[in-house]
Amino acid sequence: MIFMTVKLYLQDPYMKKFDANVVRRGDGFVVLDKTAFYPKSGGQDYDTGVLNSVRVLRVERDGDDVLHYTDGMIGSDSVSGEINWNRRYSLMKMHTAQHMVSGIIAKRFKIKTNSVSIEESESAIKIAPLPVDTGVKVDITEDFRELVMKRIPLRFYELGRQEALKNLDPMRTSGIQKLPEVIKKLRVVEIPGIDKCACAGTHVKNTFELGQLEITRSEEKDNETTIYFRLI
Ligand SMILES: [Zn+2]
Repeated sequence: MIFMTVKLYLQDPYMKKFDANVVRRGDGFVVLDKTAFYPKSGGQDYDTGVLNSVRVLRVERDGDDVLHYTDGMIGSDSVSGEINWNRRYSLMKMHTAQHMVSGIIAKRFKIKTNSVSIEESESAIKIAPLPVDTGVKVDITEDFRELVMKRIPLRFYELGRQEALKNLDPMRTSGIQKLPEVIKKLRVVEIPGIDKCACAGTHVKNTFELGQLEITRSEEKDNETTIYFRLI
């Protein structure tokens, strides 16, 4: 049976609890008809939490399905789920911060983001080479602070694949080329004035929810610069 888990985390990233039905059981995991648990993908780390009273240890994607790996058997076919909200909210804030940092770097230095890693306590972006000296750190941190102070509401909408390639900044479309051809519609996340890119992760509603950005370190390797950051 071809099945697609309904992604409640895209409809409402602030959803903490939900009810669902088990549609498939595998080795240590269950697949539900719908879920608020975010699977590790697009650089963003997975959610943890509980299904009934069984702990969800990690969550992965298998095509359109979401696999919930648990530390015990789930007896019933109907489940009540609750995500670990503190972890998720940190990831949402980090992910939104990453879009802002990538947008700032594209705008200010005309430099492209190659890949991202969104984790709970420290995140990172890999970009084309850029010597990150104190001046660069101050520029990025100051631009970030201004965007937070402006209290900018994020926008989420769908665009066709070709339309997206035409409308988005070429510096922020590298991920689109890597997507399978079957994906025709893309979800666009826009932070008006600073960034617009295709993304299926979880984000906050408004930039004011983010704290202050701290660039913790950077390293240069294999013709790429990695910038590590956290929110304080
Ligand atoms: Zn995103």
